[in-house]
Amino acid sequence: MERVLVTGGAGYIGAHACKALAARGFLPVVVDTLATGWRDAVQFGPLVEVDLSDRAALDAVFADHAPVAVMHFAASSLVGEARQNPGKYWRNNVLGSLTLVEAMVAAGCLDLVFSSTCATYGQQDGVVLTEDSPQTPLNAYGSSKRAVEEILRDFGASAGLRSVIFRYFNVAGADPDGDLGEQHRPETHLIPLILEAIDGQRPGLVINGTDYPTHDGTCVRDYVHVSDLADAHVRGLDWLRAGHGSRVFNLGTGAGFSVREVLSQARVATGKTVPHDFGPRRGGDAAVLVSGSSRAIHDLGWSPERSSLKMMIQDAWAWHKSGGFKR
Ligand code: UDP
Repeated sequence: MERVLVTGGAGYIGAHACKALAARGFLPVVVDTLATGWRDAVQFGPLVEVDLSDRAALDAVFADHAPVAVMHFAASSLVGEARQNPGKYWRNNVLGSLTLVEAMVAAGCLDLVFSSTCATYGQQDGVVLTEDSPQTPLNAYGSSKRAVEEILRDFGASAGLRSVIFRYFNVAGADPDGDLGEQHRPETHLIPLILEAIDGQRPGLVINGTDYPTHDGTCVRDYVHVSDLADAHVRGLDWLRAGHGSRVFNLGTGAGFSVREVLSQARVATGKTVPHDFGPRRGGDAAVLVSGSSRAIHDLGWSPERSSLKMMIQDAWAWHKSGGFKR
């Protein structure tokens, strides 16, 4: 069975990608420190507890498992934290990725699928973002991911590294079979926070800013189902292994929803009201982030079938009610 190394495979998106890889006949080998990931999320292959900054340990993983490719999810990914502690983001995201790429080249493993982000675009309101939009990030999360994209281009030119770079918009939902879901410590993302508020696990949701230049004053985001995202990753791997060159793809649906709209859809999907209040803007938030994703649809044959807001919230609600991972 061919092996694919999945860094961050114990995390939210990485674990869903492992499930999709296993369904396609690959053995996903998870590389994760479990600093933010969950042991219970590693269900489809072995777990190797290694930090990406440890080059000798990475070399041993490549020697032991001889993976045909790498999917690289491991990263720090909180906008608020990135503004407080940019050094952590440059160290974890950029140095970790650089060490991984050098280990890949040394091992002759040259196909990489990389998790990037729409946060690399920054504030470009009023336009649908395409892969050719300028990248002017507002925080160290976005700038560290943009730097990794540049590293991948340089190693493509110098060492023949082939990369598919996915710039995610807002990932949501949970595995429709109930095996996996979103669970962060602490939780900062909108939909799980709404579900915790509905369930009485927090006093209520605070809407971050009501004075944005949008139709209802709250931020507009493009939400995509995590299982659709995982499917895109397997398609990206196929793309590389079919001999296509490096390529960047946005992953979103092209439909934007405001925070207020997400709240009202949560009421419809769960049948419960969402206690909420209004607060100031959260620093580093763009007013509107909406994806032009026609490239992924056209080149990869991708179709984000589960990505209606209602289905994402229903899947997330089922996961929430299941109690989630224990360890
Ligand atoms: N948001 C909010 N209240 C919260 C958490 C998030 O109003 O308690 C807003 C946030 O400002 C953004 C949107 O919800 O406009 C999505 O935020 P999230 O953190 O889920 O994703 P991000 O867009 O930062 O990747």
